[in-house]
Amino acid sequence: QAKRIPGTSLSMAERRFAQMSSTALENEQALRKGIRNQEIYLDYQPKIDAVSGRLLGFEALARWHRPGIGPVSPVEFIAIAERTGQISELGSLLLERACRQIADWRRAIGGCVPVAVNVSPMQLLNKGFPQLVQRILQQTGIPAHCLTLEITESAAVENLEDTQTQLQQLRALGIEVAMDDFGTGFSSLSMLRELPLNTLKIDRGLISPLPAPDAVAVVTAICQLAGALDLQVVAEGIETLEQAIAARDAGCHALQGYYYARPLTVADAGAWQQRELGAGTACCADDDTAA
Ligand code: C2E
Ligand code: MG
Ligand code: MG
Ligand code: MG
Repeated sequence: QAKRIPGTSLSMAERRFAQMSSTALENEQALRKGIRNQEIYLDYQPKIDAVSGRLLGFEALARWHRPGIGPVSPVEFIAIAERTGQISELGSLLLERACRQIADWRRAIGGCVPVAVNVSPMQLLNKGFPQLVQRILQQTGIPAHCLTLEITESAAVENLEDTQTQLQQLRALGIEVAMDDFGTGFSSLSMLRELPLNTLKIDRGLISPLPAPDAVAVVTAICQLAGALDLQVVAEGIETLEQAIAARDAGCHALQGYYYARPLTVADAGAWQQRELGAGTACCADDDTAA
């Protein structure tokens, strides 16, 4: 006999279910409203050259301050967007926003500041995705090589052929592709041969134990493999100088993490570029003036 809640005809389980589904519905509606009201925006986390310390570019990270609730993790609201069919709209909005930002910065510093944008599996596998990206590049007038797309292993593993097709089209446009969170999933190694990638981003889980010798061994091996396959390596989640040194010595080309900077507002990211320009170490020669 199910336990009854006083004053209602619902069992505990029924009530919990009702609560859960009303919360899911509320989340869905709040996100819809958030997208419409432009509550979602991007912060930009610097990527640093491991050897020279120069700024190499930024990763765009989505942010949402939900009214009445506060900051919601992108992991959470991207999942809501995927579950409720809003990911195409949100994804293209964010991509467009990032490309406009690249265009603005390019005007300000007279060169391309590379920005990496995270792409969710559902978004990537959308048939029209490469065309969408092409249209956004045209509309914003930025050279394709200023844009990197970060994809995750899980999507690629489950849909290798479709992922391959999409990535080939994106690469044909001149866009760079990075495998994000490398080392957390599975089947990573066969994928490296089959996908047209430019970059591996080693997951924080493998970087935080640095400089422990076993972690050094793993990161060094990944960098050697990447080198043999002509891939660049980014270490994510660098929080200490010791980790930065160990990652550099293991062969990582680029470093990213709180040790250098948290994800920054547009204004702070712009100020960082101006500082580099002033120091004569500006990141980004713009070799494509056609756009
Ligand atoms: P990710 O792409 O692997 O991004 C790295 C995450 O690690 C970010 O969390 C970043 O703020 C955090 N991080 C960076 N440096 C450090 C560090 O030194 N220590 C620690 N503890 N954390 C660090 P965030 O912004 O919460 O994003 C989480 C995930 O949400 C991202 O992981 C990405 O998978 C997803 N995401 C974020 N923005 C977007 C987006 O615009 N589109 C899509 N599809 N996914 C996004
Ligand atoms: Mg990423
Ligand atoms: Mg990552
Ligand atoms: Mg990660």
